Amino acid sequence: MLVNLCDTHVHTLFSRHAYSTVEEDVRAAAERGLELVGITDHYSAMISSEIRPLEYQHLFNFRAIPRQWMGVKVLRGAEADIVDLEGHLFGHGLTFDRMLTGDVWVTPFSLEEQALKDVDYAIASVHGRDFTRDATPAQVTEMYVRALAHPKVLMLGHIGRTGLPYELVPVVRAARELGKVLEVNEHSFDFGKPGDGRRVATMGRCRALAEACAEAGVMIAVNTDAHISCEIGHFEHSLAMLEEIHFPPELVATRSAEAFIGCVERGVGALED
Ligand SMILES: [Zn+2]
Ligand SMILES: [Zn+2]
Repeated sequence: MLVNLCDTHVHTLFSRHAYSTVEEDVRAAAERGLELVGITDHYSAMISSEIRPLEYQHLFNFRAIPRQWMGVKVLRGAEADIVDLEGHLFGHGLTFDRMLTGDVWVTPFSLEEQALKDVDYAIASVHGRDFTRDATPAQVTEMYVRALAHPKVLMLGHIGRTGLPYELVPVVRAARELGKVLEVNEHSFDFGKPGDGRRVATMGRCRALAEACAEAGVMIAVNTDAHISCEIGHFEHSLAMLEEIHFPPELVATRSAEAFIGCVERGVGALED
């Protein structure tokens, strides 16, 4: 039996189209018996049509959230959009000279650096796909490899569900070389309607990804991508698929808080207080 005691991709009200608070998410994790939850709100154009530091201030004050709350270890994360075929993250290259108070800073700062400075890890995902319209599988592969190499990125989010054509082997190899993680996302299994082509294709891609990770010895994170607290800790479809393919338990990064924190420390860096 595979166990999964961490949910390292969950959203709160700060994602705009999610419906629970940080406290509700942590309580749900505690009630489900999880050891660790990672709060990963969208860092993305989905938050606001205006790109300015004010819109992302929920990423600037993580220290207000207890590290240990209701018996659950709480990690600070963000789900950052990949925004171009070079694998850059949202806000890349944008600088600002006014912080939240409106005071002018002596040196302009980068939104990307400011937003990701205090996260323990980021998940890199593609949501807006317009920029990938004419991309070849080789270009998408390169984009994923570069995004994974970002120092704050620990994992690629839901690449099975995103559905962009890419080459599995180079992405898995890059994850292994960089000490990073690939995600099996529970939400991918209720995507589209049961039996429709989209869902079947998504499930096939998730399975192929897990099989490639098992073969190459790459860690996976099994996450819900919950947009409301009652979804937290429900990994049933993902775990059933992993059982079916006899996925090695020691490659599940989210099997325990200790295992996941080890992955963060190896892939991104030591956790701060
Ligand atoms: Zn979302
Ligand atoms: Zn998400």
